[in-house]
Amino acid sequence: MFQTSVLASGSKGNCILIRSRNTALILDAGISLKRIWAALDALAVPRHTIQAVIVSHEHSDHTRSAGAMARSLKIPLYISADTYAYCAHRLGKVEERLTYFESGVDFLVGDILVRPFRSSHDAVDSNNFCFEHDDRRLGVAIDLGYCTKLTTLRLSQAHALILESNHDFTMLMEGPYDWNLKMRVKSEHGHLSNEEAVGLLSQVLHPGLRNLVLAHLSETNNLPDLAYRVMNEYLQSIRSEIKLQVASQHSHTALIDI
Ligand SMILES: [Zn+2]
Ligand SMILES: [Zn+2]
Repeated sequence: MFQTSVLASGSKGNCILIRSRNTALILDAGISLKRIWAALDALAVPRHTIQAVIVSHEHSDHTRSAGAMARSLKIPLYISADTYAYCAHRLGKVEERLTYFESGVDFLVGDILVRPFRSSHDAVDSNNFCFEHDDRRLGVAIDLGYCTKLTTLRLSQAHALILESNHDFTMLMEGPYDWNLKMRVKSEHGHLSNEEAVGLLSQVLHPGLRNLVLAHLSETNNLPDLAYRVMNEYLQSIRSEIKLQVASQHSHTALIDI
């Protein structure tokens, strides 16, 4: 068994569950602990089975409850040293829970192999991830402004992908954000647009990819139906049978078999 559920995703908070039969972990705890517990209860995943919380980068939509979760469950908090230096104030007292990881250096949580790799994003040390168990691979790339060679290399051969589809370019440019924020979002250190998500997917597509979850949608500059339609049009055009869904800011996905 190797499963994932996006407990929540969007510009206002991200949280992803990954579990095997013997191990469960949380990637980013950017929503309230109350909501995380409720989602785990709804999925019938006992919270005491969570063995680690991993932080991808320091932005509050990924770190909000990470410290509280590590303390509450008495589990390790995996974070890079640079990221910790930038967000220690937000995590509270976690010194005894800290386990540092480095981009490009794989580590094990129970029987799940965690493979962090650098993402192009405006954080001090932003990471995307692969998770592997029993020859199955999940790729998670939800904060990146640009798809590098490393991104495609690491996401290739994934059986399930959680991929950023942050904004519609026209909605962003015609929307209410000020000019500097618009430039930040669309830059190579910001977030992927719906079209850029299609571009990335087209580079990593292979017959073994079964599930695709679009994530980290902007509530201001995107619509779930629009993100779905842009990706679905591409998938239809190549007669792909990948199961496509869009993660929500407000509710969790079902458990997805990787
Ligand atoms: Zn971010
Ligand atoms: Zn984010």
